[in-house]
Amino acid sequence: MEHSPGKKPEWLKIKLTAGASFASTKQLLNRQRLHTVCRSALCPNLHECWSRGTATFLLLGNVCTRTCRFCAVGKAAIPPPPDPLEPENIALAILSMQLKHAVLTSVTRDDLHDGGSEHWVKTIRAIRSRNPLVTIECLIPDFQASESALDLLMAESPDVLNHNIETVPSLYSRVRPQASYQASLQLLQRAKRKHGLTTKSGLMVGMGETAEEVSASLHDLVRHGCDMVTIGQYLQPSSEHMAVDRYITPEEFEQYRIIAEAAGFKHVQSAPFVRSSYHAEAYTSNTAILP
Ligand code: SF4
Repeated sequence: MEHSPGKKPEWLKIKLTAGASFASTKQLLNRQRLHTVCRSALCPNLHECWSRGTATFLLLGNVCTRTCRFCAVGKAAIPPPPDPLEPENIALAILSMQLKHAVLTSVTRDDLHDGGSEHWVKTIRAIRSRNPLVTIECLIPDFQASESALDLLMAESPDVLNHNIETVPSLYSRVRPQASYQASLQLLQRAKRKHGLTTKSGLMVGMGETAEEVSASLHDLVRHGCDMVTIGQYLQPSSEHMAVDRYITPEEFEQYRIIAEAAGFKHVQSAPFVRSSYHAEAYTSNTAILP
């Protein structure tokens, strides 16, 4: 029998707020047939973000070749081919949403020869050509640690290069079976040392890790040149997914924030509902950001 973390505590009850921009954001994304990680990953902040007119665009379709046990995105060995119109459609959506900071992410496409890196580049260029002032945050997959695929994308100099380690190394085989903790650290180091990018990563907690392991991973990230970190509670998307081990209290999140700041991160977000692109616009190096 799977371990049960008990009843959801008060601090994890979502208050739905559908502000003025919610309906228009939803209509626009549907009209342009765009995928967002907000919807595909059942993000708890969807209402809040869409109501503020922000969204995280999901490139390369909404079907992933990997089987991470925490993730609600659909999975298949051979997803449909990338949509050649997607880069331009995302650029147009950003224009109509008048975003000042755009967050892009993608599924992992181990079936494509370059992991989809070229499609990422086309999207970044399309966005910049229509929206020259927009800042771009790329939350990237590991491209199977292919240096050429990583360099192709990193050479576009996104304003923030984000790559989540997701959890501590002892849980990788259960949580991210096809990924490597070391490869993720190396990726962040490459972004910083070779390309001089602003780097960011994130972890989910409540999956069975210890506080000592979280602290060790935070120090690993800093040693590999990571500037910013997000720490949030893992929530089980469905009964098919990995169970929550424990609900981390707001006080423990505060402790993690203190540890992360002491380790040397420039920005830390640590709270139950924090996700890797939550309020991302407030943490760019560019100060011309959303209100
Ligand atoms: S690689 Fe990313 S999108 Fe794919 S299953 Fe894992 S977390 Fe989800």
